[in-house]
Amino acid sequence: MRRLRRVVALAALVVGVLLSPAVGNEGFESLRLREVEARGKAAAACAEHAADLGQRHLYVQAADEWRRARALRPDVAAYADGFDAAIHRAQLDETVGRDDLTTHHAACVTALAGAAEAYEAADMLEASDRLIGIAQTLFPGDDTRRRLGLVYYAPYAKWARPRQARLLDDGWEIVGGSWIDPDHVAELNAQHATWDDPWVVGDNVHEIRTTQPLRTALRVLAHVREYRRMFLQHFGGEWELVAPGGKLPVIVTGTQAELRERMKALTKAGDGSAYAAAFYLQSTRPLAPVFVTFEPAGAEGKATKIGFDALLWPLKHEIGHQIAFEYSKHAADRTRLVHDQFWCVEGVANFMPYYVLGEGGWRLTHPDKIPFTEHSYLKGAFSWCHENAGALVPIERFVTVRPDEFRTVAQYHQATTLAYFLLEGADRRYRQRFIGMLQTVHRAKESATTWREAFRGVDAKTLQAEFDAFVRGLDIEE
Ligand SMILES: [Zn+2]
Repeated sequence: MRRLRRVVALAALVVGVLLSPAVGNEGFESLRLREVEARGKAAAACAEHAADLGQRHLYVQAADEWRRARALRPDVAAYADGFDAAIHRAQLDETVGRDDLTTHHAACVTALAGAAEAYEAADMLEASDRLIGIAQTLFPGDDTRRRLGLVYYAPYAKWARPRQARLLDDGWEIVGGSWIDPDHVAELNAQHATWDDPWVVGDNVHEIRTTQPLRTALRVLAHVREYRRMFLQHFGGEWELVAPGGKLPVIVTGTQAELRERMKALTKAGDGSAYAAAFYLQSTRPLAPVFVTFEPAGAEGKATKIGFDALLWPLKHEIGHQIAFEYSKHAADRTRLVHDQFWCVEGVANFMPYYVLGEGGWRLTHPDKIPFTEHSYLKGAFSWCHENAGALVPIERFVTVRPDEFRTVAQYHQATTLAYFLLEGADRRYRQRFIGMLQTVHRAKESATTWREAFRGVDAKTLQAEFDAFVRGLDIEE
């Protein structure tokens, strides 16, 4: 890891030279002044509005505006003072009200966008990225993205200037805040093509390790990051999920052989078994890893190559397991693993991947089929249950299935759809009970009676009838 950081820092240095501005000192100075002017203009507008909000006793919003002014011009003491005063007043005065800031912020964003474009025109892409980042952070929203002229860059699940998106399409990458050209990327990829010195990229929670190209590492990281955000937001406030005290590893391999070798290196006990596209290595110790491969093997051991889109489903499933367990370890029984109510562990991990990420954010989908390899599909869980509505196992019996009996595809489909119903169906009437149960199970504090305790007082017949109606009413997308 340490070694990698040195490599990245060195690369940034070299690239700094490659992408040095096409303008002279004088030109650079005028662009810098343009930024200062744009920031000053936006900060003054926020401060003016903050003062107005203060007069109307809307101190919480006023503080927010002072915060923006302060972030844009940290050198202006009056903005910092304004923030402190507004926070103080907000504690004394509980007037609640909201003011629409959209129109007001438009002028601020426009000023910053102008300065960012000027940097871009002078090939100073890093300075341009920095200003665009500031504008998006301080004034988030669709309107801001439109004013900044951003386009959605799906591989990295992020918004970028068209020029950035083109560079990324051409094989450029941003490493350590600097742009790296394709030749350089290829050189670095060659350096990190073995497990002696793999790519290690991460954010504040996850860490991706791979000998695959940097593009793959960053795509996996982007999707893991967005999925984690969505997952935590989905259960926020209802399930006590606490970030682990270290990085959660995700190991990505190109081949099945590489995956077996990694397992052997990590667990010291490679058993030569064939592995699926992804799995989470449940453990009583913290920071258990997820493994992902582009060459999954079936039960009979035959390996198949898959692409990134096919990898996403199992990746999301296993990252869900990892978050659910690792964020529960703060309160878990660390002497044992889960041995009951296994269906709900799989149910929630398999339900959440039906949220699919696109330009408009995460959307729950109900696909008939999920593409797997170029020539094969997997059946969607909701679709399977919808078609087999009359043949599902009654809930009362389904929830008593022991882990060693829980292994068929049909059981996974039903667990997934039951988790969906308990979280979102029947006007969310059962959501709180079910999440309480998920919390107990993921803390390894469950028993054979956990379901009964969580659903005490619920009429089994009513629950069953509501589930049946839910399954029959599912709208399956072709
Ligand atoms: Zn699973």
